[in-house]
Amino acid sequence: MSRLALFSQPDSVPTSWLQRLIQPLQRAGYRWHGGIQLEGYKSLSNGSCIQRVSPTTGTLLSIPLGNGRHQATPCVNIGQQVRKGEVIARGQGHAPWVHASTSGQVVALQSAYVADLQSAVPAITIAADGRDEWMDDQPLLPPQSAEALAQLSWEKGIVGLGGAGFPTGIKISGARHPDMLLINGAECEPFITCDDRLMRERASEIIRAADYLAQTLSITQIRVGVEPDKSEAMFALKKAISEANSTTQVVCLPHRYPAGGQPMLIKSLSGRNLLPGMLPSEIGVMVLNVATLYKLGQAVFHQEPLVSRIVTLTGHVGNPGNVEVPIGMPVADLLKQASLREDHTGIHVGGPMMGRLLSHESAVISKTSSCLIARSVELFPRRPEPSSCIRCNRCTDACPIGLQPLKLYEANQREDKKTLQQEQLTACIECGACSEVCPSHLPLRDSFRDAKQMMSRSVAP
Ligand code: SF4
Ligand code: SF4
Repeated sequence: MSRLALFSQPDSVPTSWLQRLIQPLQRAGYRWHGGIQLEGYKSLSNGSCIQRVSPTTGTLLSIPLGNGRHQATPCVNIGQQVRKGEVIARGQGHAPWVHASTSGQVVALQSAYVADLQSAVPAITIAADGRDEWMDDQPLLPPQSAEALAQLSWEKGIVGLGGAGFPTGIKISGARHPDMLLINGAECEPFITCDDRLMRERASEIIRAADYLAQTLSITQIRVGVEPDKSEAMFALKKAISEANSTTQVVCLPHRYPAGGQPMLIKSLSGRNLLPGMLPSEIGVMVLNVATLYKLGQAVFHQEPLVSRIVTLTGHVGNPGNVEVPIGMPVADLLKQASLREDHTGIHVGGPMMGRLLSHESAVISKTSSCLIARSVELFPRRPEPSSCIRCNRCTDACPIGLQPLKLYEANQREDKKTLQQEQLTACIECGACSEVCPSHLPLRDSFRDAKQMMSRSVAP
């Protein structure tokens, strides 16, 4: 996205009584270097409640079996009737179980394009019967040990909903006695508001899940980080904390992109440094996105597998907002529901900074598809042609990791792998802050994505 549309004054920070209430919290956060202020465009979609979408009779839902690298193995046959929540594929390693996201008939076992991936992945297609009928499940007591909770997360298909899709069961079983649970409610990318609405509307479930997880893993401190443009979400969380008598602290993060990036979030909430190559478990913290924690709670307290997610529909549409949709729902159906305007200039999946253009019209929603943005000339003006670097150093000032983007860029131009390694290419989180501030419009972040691919090809057997 061009700087013309994004790199401007931030959303005005609210000064209401809600804001005054949370003001003292702002001093609680630790500082980190770099980052940039972006226009939020949040008000396009955050003004209305989450709407649930149920597939009508005959809608074809293609449910991905994994992320393209790891996938579960189907345990249903073509022609079989399934109900919502029924296990349709069982996984091993990095692939949790997969469940029917509506009731109907299995009609195909074939690949499907996924909104936030560039390629097709194995999937199971279900023709919805329009009843959206849940399977019966026996109520169970919440697991009392980390091992049992990891197994439940696995069997309920819980993965990180903040973008990476990492299996939560692995995160729980790999935890090394963390003392802090850090909850990511930053949602720092422009346009996306699904976590904001979730925190406003379902705060008590989030806090209940946080308290349960902390108790099960013997964690002593819980902190949830939220940016100051979400004062209503903060208020809802604080109310839920008070009602539950929870010790969870709400921390107001800096209003600076990428405040929700893992190293920045950990620094802001705990003061600890996640150095390149380190795992959060090595510095005593467990980090979960707010939506992942909510889904974990639904699995623990209601035996509900991960069969739906909240998706922001925004940009150049007539009916923006947030919808809770079954996994496997066609993107085209959602865009129709949002009244996509005819003169749109493409569909962006995820945020404008770290997301990508929709790769295929037939793509479906996966567990990690957070947002669909209809682009327009006004919202996404054409990026000017790159010109020569003027050595202004703005890219270095903006990098939250402390890298030297220009050195990386020049090394990639020369295909100089040694310098790319020395300058810690792998530590780049691909946030795009450097590209956004570059007055010469150099495609710095895109070049780092390419460079990472080149490096991985050169180490491949
Ligand atoms: S894309 Fe990479 S190099 Fe650029 S600012 Fe982000 S972390 Fe730094
Ligand atoms: S911001 Fe752009 S022009 Fe400035 S030093 Fe970095 S690459 Fe060069």
